[in-house]
Amino acid sequence: MSGPEPSGGEEAKQAKEAEDAEKFSFMATVTKAPKKQIQFADDMQEFTKFPTKTGRRSLSRSISQSSTDSYSSAASYTDSSDDEVSPREKQQTNSKGSSNFCVKNIKQAEFGRREIEIAEQDMSALISLRKRAQGEKPLAGAKIVGCTHITAQTAVLIETLCALGAQCRWSACNIYSTQNEVAAALAEAGVAVFAWKGESEDDFWWCIDRCVNVDGWQANMILDDGGDLTHWVYKKYPNIFKKIRGIVEESVTGVHRLYQLSKAGKLCVPAMNVNDSVTKQKFDNLYCCRESILDGLKRTTDVMFGGKQVVVCGYGEVGKGCCAALKALGAIVYVTEIDPICALQACMDGFRVVKLSEVIRQVDVVITCTGNKNVVTREHLDRMKNSCIVCNMGHSNTEIDVTSLRTPELTWERVRSQVDHIIWPDGKRVVLLAEGRLLNLSCSTVPTFVLSITATTQALALIELYNAPEGRYKQDVYLLPKKMDEYVASLHLPSFDAHLTELTDDQAKYLGLNKNGPFKPNYYRSVPLLGAL
Ligand code: NAD
Repeated sequence: MSGPEPSGGEEAKQAKEAEDAEKFSFMATVTKAPKKQIQFADDMQEFTKFPTKTGRRSLSRSISQSSTDSYSSAASYTDSSDDEVSPREKQQTNSKGSSNFCVKNIKQAEFGRREIEIAEQDMSALISLRKRAQGEKPLAGAKIVGCTHITAQTAVLIETLCALGAQCRWSACNIYSTQNEVAAALAEAGVAVFAWKGESEDDFWWCIDRCVNVDGWQANMILDDGGDLTHWVYKKYPNIFKKIRGIVEESVTGVHRLYQLSKAGKLCVPAMNVNDSVTKQKFDNLYCCRESILDGLKRTTDVMFGGKQVVVCGYGEVGKGCCAALKALGAIVYVTEIDPICALQACMDGFRVVKLSEVIRQVDVVITCTGNKNVVTREHLDRMKNSCIVCNMGHSNTEIDVTSLRTPELTWERVRSQVDHIIWPDGKRVVLLAEGRLLNLSCSTVPTFVLSITATTQALALIELYNAPEGRYKQDVYLLPKKMDEYVASLHLPSFDAHLTELTDDQAKYLGLNKNGPFKPNYYRSVPLLGAL
């Protein structure tokens, strides 16, 4: 059977896929959609980062950006190093006598369990998937090696995968973001977890290696966030790919790496790009940023927004979310854009579209969210007024030219965690947040509900790749089938007591749709109604 293609022979393939899907009853409701490959990104990053073993905690380029960008401030509550002994040096066992893990302190498990239970409250869709599918065990026999943030929310995902039949070994994709007590709770529950907050770079790779390189256990699925795990397997244990049925990747960076491998003809298993699924894009980029921009700014600066002049650079998904939130609080919002369509959208949403240089002297807050580089230059920074707050919600480190501020005539004063005052010789201060890294990921929390969407998408992608009949997916990168995207959304609707309207037969015929979806073509992206705020 031929796998999903970008175009051509789609109908025949859909019919065959539907037939295959029927054989696997749980997925039958969600796998009939056509699967499309998406375009290669032109600006893919080089897949050349080879890890070093320096053994120092660092922001080294040898590990991916996501491994040092903190995902949320949901930092461990129990990280105030009660002892300085490395977890690698400790002998620990859980209550069942297993020592198949390496965490900061297994005694924190009870506390971590409460954290997981709190997260479960706002992840009802994932719990519902767990309940619906645990009878069928669609992941029975799956051996999943994972590398993600280890937080209460990802613990709910990991435990869901286990409930669906998988065996899991897990490490952290970020050296700072592990909630130690949660890692302990997972270890207590029998998950082979190797992670703690504040790993050195050497620890980081050691933990990944402990998950992959195990006597008598070989992974057949990979769940990655940032591509470091996939990279490690490629470099150190390429033979493992003979057994791997698929890779599910969440991050922009990791997805770019996969596309690059695919383009070079080096991707040897199918991969699912979860990052670009519609539900994830909408919730991570638009709705999450709409909520977390204010959280990040307020936690760091205590700023009041009513009447403040704010310029938002970029009116894409993230920019739209930021603008909507700021407008709702009474800020006067300006937008800068390079794209006339997005600029026109900003106009229609009631924002003044300007060049940054036109407003830079008067604004109180500058927010970048373009995904571009050097959007705010030293010249802009020189012209800002006293106390102007500068922060970034877009691509890490590149949007604000922070390097240009590290010159002898400027004084840096760290006033709070993640808050620097940059002082000019005449006494002017600019408030720089998170040194230009992503504000919300560095200084606020990500709502559990948003993470539930991502986690549910990841779980479905794993189920789909693991159960796909041979040949459905080639050695390429795929988007989650539209129908599964819709399924992820539908699992979240009961949280709002939302009632979907069902198409009548007549209406379905009129629109040319299957009554059970998919309801939109793959290229469809819904446009948010900002006026509703
Ligand atoms: P997008 O492509 O939808 O929007 C970016 C916009 O910036 C585009 O409309 C583009 O025309 C515009 N732009 C590019 N260069 C510009 C410039 N020099 N001046 C003004 N406008 C410019 O992308 P998006 O989904 O909004 O994501 C933007 C960035 O935010 C990406 O780097 C993405 O990785 C990141 N992101 C951050 C978060 C977060 O939680 N902070 C979440 C998702 C994505």
